Amino acid sequence: MTPALRPLLAGNWKMNGTASALATLDAIAEGITRLPDVFDTLLCTPATLVHRAASAAKASRIQIGGQDCHTGQAGAHTGDVSADMLADCGAHFVIVGHSERRADHAETDGLVCRKAQAAIASGLTAIICIGETGGEKAEGKTLAVVERQLLKSVPDSATAQNVVIAYEPVWAIGTGLTPTVEDVASVHRFIRDHLAARFGAEGAGMRLLYGGSVKGANAHELMAIDHVDGALVGGASLKADDFLAIARAF
Ligand code: PGA
Repeated sequence: MTPALRPLLAGNWKMNGTASALATLDAIAEGITRLPDVFDTLLCTPATLVHRAASAAKASRIQIGGQDCHTGQAGAHTGDVSADMLADCGAHFVIVGHSERRADHAETDGLVCRKAQAAIASGLTAIICIGETGGEKAEGKTLAVVERQLLKSVPDSATAQNVVIAYEPVWAIGTGLTPTVEDVASVHRFIRDHLAARFGAEGAGMRLLYGGSVKGANAHELMAIDHVDGALVGGASLKADDFLAIARAF
């Protein structure tokens, strides 16, 4: 962790959850009250649940986020959801540039940057996801990919308050595989140095999350790494017990 930065534990429910999933939110909220109030907790629900989740979480330590937003705030874009709409529903965060969206919807770095700008304009904090594929890692291109994504996906308007960076190696997402502690440490150090060089104190203050197969069994080790200021958790955020096991490492 980075001393002085309040860590963020973020869950990404992906395309999972109907109304019954609010019971999971309640159970997480209840469990979090038993833990020291030294970290922020966020659940990024499907867009369809943001409004109800935000209402359900109101009196708790949990904040709610979306998983994607459009580059614009309103208009003729059938099926899309804007950052303004998410904010209106009670969201405080939105994930942009998740590797599943980059792959499934051919999202480019430039598009991700414009989505982050839209999120910031709506008062949301953008969680900008970056990370190399397995093939890129095998070719030794991890830092080059991360640097390109940082340069092109993070807007000039980014501050420590309105942007969080999530380093998620694509090959680690949903696979049970994680990089070595040394590899996470070197990538997070690289990200921190890059952001501090570009944004000064704001870059030094941005929270850097690790994501990709985080679970209770590895959370302690991962969260102890310098410049890992929290986690973005997919599969293990769908069950309260699994998520709370990670929370206990914070
Ligand atoms: P995972 O997903 O925890 O299931 O690996 C992480 C993510 O996609 O954010």
